[in-house]
Amino acid sequence: MRNVAVLGATGSIGTATLDVLANLPAQQWRVWGLSGHAKLSQLADSVAKLTPAPELIVTSSAKAAAELDADRWPSSSRVRVGAEALVELAADPAVDIVVAAIVGRAGLESTLAAVGSGKRVALANKETLVVAGPVVKQQQVASGAELLPVDSEHSAIFQCLQASQTPAQRIILTSSGGPFRTWTADQMREASVEEALAHPTWQMGPKISVDSATMMNKALEIIEACWLFDVPAESIEVMIHPQSVIHSMVEFIDGSVIAQLSPPDMRLPIQYALTYPERSVCPAPRLDCGQRMDWTLEPADRERFPALALGFEVAAAGGTAGAVVNAANEAAVGLFLDRKIRFTDIVPACRRALEQHQHERHPTLQRLIELDQWARAEVQRWHCGANF
Ligand code: NDP
Ligand code: MG
Repeated sequence: MRNVAVLGATGSIGTATLDVLANLPAQQWRVWGLSGHAKLSQLADSVAKLTPAPELIVTSSAKAAAELDADRWPSSSRVRVGAEALVELAADPAVDIVVAAIVGRAGLESTLAAVGSGKRVALANKETLVVAGPVVKQQQVASGAELLPVDSEHSAIFQCLQASQTPAQRIILTSSGGPFRTWTADQMREASVEEALAHPTWQMGPKISVDSATMMNKALEIIEACWLFDVPAESIEVMIHPQSVIHSMVEFIDGSVIAQLSPPDMRLPIQYALTYPERSVCPAPRLDCGQRMDWTLEPADRERFPALALGFEVAAAGGTAGAVVNAANEAAVGLFLDRKIRFTDIVPACRRALEQHQHERHPTLQRLIELDQWARAEVQRWHCGANF
């Protein structure tokens, strides 16, 4: 029996994970514990479908927990409230696999706890690697944790790398280009929240949808790839592939390029991170090989999408750069979603935070957390001073 903890079970990745687990053999897979934050009524609905009931339910928002009728939880489950309880769930000795699917820096402590306690970690929460890559790697080496990518591009790279024992020479990260792939810079200046959230190929949570529109998501993924695959930023290329079928490619020393393909559906990479090295029948749709398929690959436009250059720079700088840029991005995306700043203010806010901070090469976790708070406060300050 493999006991799984789903952190962020109410989100886009979390619900897809519960669907995957519902389709795996019940005698081998169990949702041992799960967490939700604001959407606790939805969490209770998901819990009601689980047999047996989970051992541990974490409601990280105390405010939302107080608003929900306690009778909604099964009597056999333990219910823990508050952010600290996420760490308890992630590190519980009964848990074999942690799916880290909380969005943003809020997932940092629980993801680190899962890595630190030697679990298999199915990692969706890329921000943890961006903020604290060196700390994650140190803890992984010390604990023997397995870090398996959920992000579709990184799952693709992970699958392609299995084709050879010789290290890859180049990684080609694909990107759909997001909703503004063909927009001019002037059009993007006027982009609304609704337009930024309308991703052409993927259904995702709001934060990552905006990140895809600015291409900060690709920037975060460049950094994520450096940490996951231990490669320098110079060995990574980004190519635009609007159909989101080729999830990424790897080039080997002999010039052979291996790619992984499947329709855009996160259930496949989620399931692979759970079942690796085995494969199992998956509820995600399959490529329809009887159809004509027009797939295109084109270079990324770094002028219209300045986030890309920022991603390469931060990946090469390491140290404190990732924590500062990630925090500025989270704060700016929040302001954009609240309709307080323009879409085109987001990436300049990240660059400004990067340039205004004092870079340190080997920060402690405590320092990274301090800088996360500093960068968020700076973005708020610029907003209040009408400095956008
Ligand atoms: P969603 O916004 O859909 O879900 C986020 C989850 O995190 C929800 O369960 C939410 O709870 C929970 N959460 C939010 N804030 C907090 C908090 N302060 N403390 C604890 N839990 C919190 O996001 P996604 O599922 O889209 O993304 C999750 C992660 O996966 C992100 O890091 C993203 O970059 C990554 N990812 C997502 C992909 C996708 O297709 N969606 C693809 C690749 C990576 P609640 O809803 O109850 O408030
Ligand atoms: Mg991705």
